[in-house]
Amino acid sequence: MPRKYIKKRAEIWIKDLLALARRMEIEDNYDLERRYVSLVLEISKHYKVKIPEKRFICKNCKIILIPGKNSTVRIKKGRVNIKCLRCGNIRRFVI
Ligand SMILES: [Zn+2]
Repeated sequence: MPRKYIKKRAEIWIKDLLALARRMEIEDNYDLERRYVSLVLEISKHYKVKIPEKRFICKNCKIILIPGKNSTVRIKKGRVNIKCLRCGNIRRFVI
């Protein structure tokens, strides 16, 4: 199978898993959510595929960050701070 095709499949796979993980976060099903996010991270590493909206994933507790639910988003000195409310981990991004 051509590599390009496999990569494309991995991208779709990641997108589906992220959507599922997001739904699990909304339904407070953390066990499944963590499983899905771990899978996403593994697939991304294995196939060298980028994760869309990676900044909204807490690598510490392997959850999808939803602002207002389990995370806060603050803008400080031209940077975006995304804080995971579950583990307190803050990720910073330059706008
Ligand atoms: Zn966290």
